[in-house]
Order: sequence, then structure tokens, then C-alpha cells
Amino acid sequence: MYRKNEGANTEYRMKTGKLFVLSGPSGVGKGTLRQHALNNAPNLKYSISCTTRKPREGETDGVEYRFISHSQFQEYISRELFLEYAHVHEDYYGTLKADVISELEAGHDVLLEIDVQGALQVKEKMPGAVLIFVAPPSVEVLTQRLTGRHTDSEESVKVRLGNAIGELALKDKYDYVIVNDDLDSACEELRKIIL
Ligand code: ADP
Ligand code: 5GP
Repeated sequence: MYRKNEGANTEYRMKTGKLFVLSGPSGVGKGTLRQHALNNAPNLKYSISCTTRKPREGETDGVEYRFISHSQFQEYISRELFLEYAHVHEDYYGTLKADVISELEAGHDVLLEIDVQGALQVKEKMPGAVLIFVAPPSVEVLTQRLTGRHTDSEESVKVRLGNAIGELALKDKYDYVIVNDDLDSACEELRKIIL
């Protein structure tokens, strides 16, 4: 909270939080960096997206994502509940407006981990948002990380690598670019941007 003095009138206003948007190709290390940031910035809250993607092994509804049906996703679009949404790889993903606004108004910083199409929609609607792009040291390293994670089918890895080229082409539209080569250095760069 901060106080603004205007003559005899003293005005109290709640300080709203800041919105950070993390993007980058699948397998680059966004999830790893995000977890590190959340563990090290107590005022930072993660906004859990909605997706029509099926949960991977070990994923729980309401933890990694809200796993919803195509018809529910469509209903949320028509009710204008999304701050942004996009078709990414083979599925729909979206951020609920109410989640983000309520956290910001409570004075928390908010972190979104979303694709480039969604990030640019957010910047247009909320120009104060800080856009951070995570880039791989090379396409070879990205391929190794994506396949080494063992969470996606061969077909899905191909789609994700194909989309990486288009995503990398948009990195100049971001406020910051972090090259995730050495993990500790990348975590430190992200921590500095957020704090
Ligand atoms: P994303 O969320 O962008 O899809 P992940 O965070 O799941 O990516 O990371 C993909 C894989 O790469 C994981 O197995 C992760 O442990 C590994 N990884 C992430 N960052 C690094 C790094 N700097 N060096 C080596 N491996 C990394
Ligand atoms: P995954 O299926 O690997 O969890 O995520 C695939 C892609 O969808 C990633 O690039 C991730 O950042 C993106 N994504 C996750 N949630 C959202 C969201 O709410 N909106 C948008 N536009 N992209 C998202």
C-alpha cells in the first residue's frame, strides 16, 4: 500500500502487482525456470491455464493446467472469460482474465507461461506486462531437451520442433531474451528481471 498526500487530503491506494509473461519453444526450459522463480519470489503467483490437451502421466487437474473439454473452452471464449487464448501445437490453451486480475489487485506479481501468440495478445491488452522470451543455445540442444524429457510422442516432438522456428522469429518483440544454456545463470537472469 502507498500513501499519496494532496494538501489536507491523504489518499490511500493499494499497490497492484506486476505481470510477467514467459514464452519460448517447447523443451527450452520454461517450466524449469518458472519453478525456480516461484520458489525464490514469495510474492510471485502462477496463473494456471486452461487447456484442451489431455493430461500427461503425473499431471493433475488444477495443478499444471485446468484440463477442460473443447465445448467448455468454446463456452469460455464466447463468455469472453479469457485474457488471451491460442491454438498451440495440437490443442487450445488460455488464461482466465479473472485469475490474473484478482491476483494483481491483491498486490501479487503474476507469472504466465504461455506461447508467443498469447504473449502478444497480453501485451496489447496490458502494455505494462513484462515479456520474457527463453531461447535455446541451439536447435540441436533444443531437440535433445525435448526428446530427453520423454513426455511427448515422436509425432508431437516433430510438431513442437517445427513450431519452434516460428516462435524464435518473434523473440525481438519481447522486452527480455534469456538464453537458457547454463541453468543457474538463466535462473539468476530471470530472478533479477522479476525482482
Ligand atoms: P519447457 O517447459 O520449455 O517445455 P522444460 O522445463 O520441461 O521445458 O525442460 C525441458 C527439459 O530440459 C527438461 O528435461 C529439463 O530438465 C531440461 N532443462 C531445462 N533447462 C536446462 C538447462 N539449462 N540445461 C540442461 N537441461 C535443461
Ligand atoms: P505443454 O503442452 O507443453 O504444456 O505446452 C505447450 C505450449 O502451450 C507451451 O508453449 C506453453 O507455454 C503454451 N501455453 C500454456 N498455457 C498457455 C495459455 O494459457 N495460453 C497460451 N497462449 N499458451 C499457453
